[in-house]
Formats: sequence, C-alpha cells, structure tokens
Amino acid sequence: MDDFAPQSATAPGSQGQAAVWFDSPEDRRRRHDMVRQQILARGIRQPRLIRAMARLPRHFFTHSHERLVAYDDHAMPSDHGQTISQPLIVAVMTAALDARPQQRILEIGTGTGYQTALLAMLYAQIFTVEHVRELSVAAQERLQHLGLNNISYCVGDGSKGWEAHGPYDGILVTAGAVVVPEPLLAQLADGGRLIIPIGKQKLQMLKQFERCGQEIRSTDILECRFVPLVGEYGWQLGRS
Ligand code: SAH
Repeated sequence: MDDFAPQSATAPGSQGQAAVWFDSPEDRRRRHDMVRQQILARGIRQPRLIRAMARLPRHFFTHSHERLVAYDDHAMPSDHGQTISQPLIVAVMTAALDARPQQRILEIGTGTGYQTALLAMLYAQIFTVEHVRELSVAAQERLQHLGLNNISYCVGDGSKGWEAHGPYDGILVTAGAVVVPEPLLAQLADGGRLIIPIGKQKLQMLKQFERCGQEIRSTDILECRFVPLVGEYGWQLGRS
C-alpha cells in the first residue's frame, strides 16, 4: 500500500485550526512504534488491519497541537466533548468484526472519522451515522481528502441503525449503551457481528453479538469506557 500523500497544506475539518496536512518521517516512526508496541505486542495480528493502521495518519484526526501524542496509548479528546478511541480499542473492535473485504459495514458514532477510515480501507462499503452534524461534516471532509470514497454518511440517531441500506455484514458502535439496541440486531445479516460496549456509564463490557439464523450468540471481549450512546438505549437518569 502507498502512503497517503499530502494533497494540500491545510487539513480540512481540522477542528478550526490550521493543522498541517503532512505526514513526516517522524510521524511515520511514531505510527510504526504504535503498531508494534500497542497492537502487535498485545496479540492482534490480522495482517490487513496491521497494514492499514501502519498507513493511516492518526495525527490528521487529532487537534494539531496534539500531534506529538497522537500515537500514544490512550484515548484523546476531540470536539463536542467526544473522544477519539485508544488505538488498541480501535484495533480490538475492528479485529472482532472479522468480516470479508467485499462486505458492507455499518458504524455508529463517526466522531473524528478515524475508525471510519480504517473500516473504509478494509471493507467494500461503509455506512456511518453520527448525531452531531458538525462532527459528521468535518469527518466527511477529512475522509474525502484522504481519497476514501466508499463511505456513506448520515446525521441522526444511530441507535436506530440505517435501515435503508441494511442488512449489514458487520455493525460497530463506538459509544456505550445500557442495553443492545434492537434495531441494530435486526439489521445484522446472517453470520454478521455487532460489536458494542454495554454496561454502566463508568465501565462497560465490549461485547460481540453474532447472528446465526434466528439465534444471537454473545461473547464478552474486554472491559472498556466509552462516551455515551445518545438516545433511548443510552444512560438516562436512574439507569446508570
Ligand atoms: N469512532 C470515533 C470515536 C467516537 S466517540 C473516532 O474514531 O473518532 C462516539 C461518537 O458517537 C461521538 O462522536 C458521538 O457524537 C456519537 N454518538 C453518540 N450517540 C450517538 C447516536 N445515538 N447516534 C449517532 N452517533 C452517536
């Protein structure tokens, strides 16, 4: 795979700052260290995923003043009080989908678009839903600029899924819920997996739900902490 070539001096959707859209040898070194120390060392080995993470400039998705820590081993704040997930969590969630390259994936919680970009590098068609319009627009500009054109964007409540394009071979939710949103299970194709954090506001279990005909098989992956999924399946007063 080629590296993403810088196409202009300023990154579009760069959260209001004049971030330089440039992937330096130093950025690449930090990114390769991230993959070796945080992903490979923790047992994630899917070759296509590893190659995509080594190639995708994570610092294009963070605030420009955080460029030096964009590849560190933790989640980072993004706009509108949201976060860009820890690289390991992104890798674990993507690996858990385990779909085939020609398949179609639904993502809930576009956020900065980092996870969306990885999915778009790995799978044929991505559908992504974000309820904050500004985040969706900024992510869209950023991802188009990277040349990732196999993505459809929707602004709305993703806990209802995106029925018009379903069923999906995989669904990935990057915000935490109290219970599994029924519409997401309903939009899962046979053999498809839904990856979603479920639990209390302070701590959730990242879960995998796999559809086998009418049956849904659930597996726990790891403990995690995500920002809340807004809507009827999220945390409300008295439910946390
Ligand atoms: N995957 C993102 C991180 C997402 S943070 C990244 O790589 O940057 C969680 C995102 O989910 C936030 O952007 C938040 O606005 C969005 N979100 C929360 N509830 C939602 C809902 N019901 N529908 C769609 N998006 C939602």
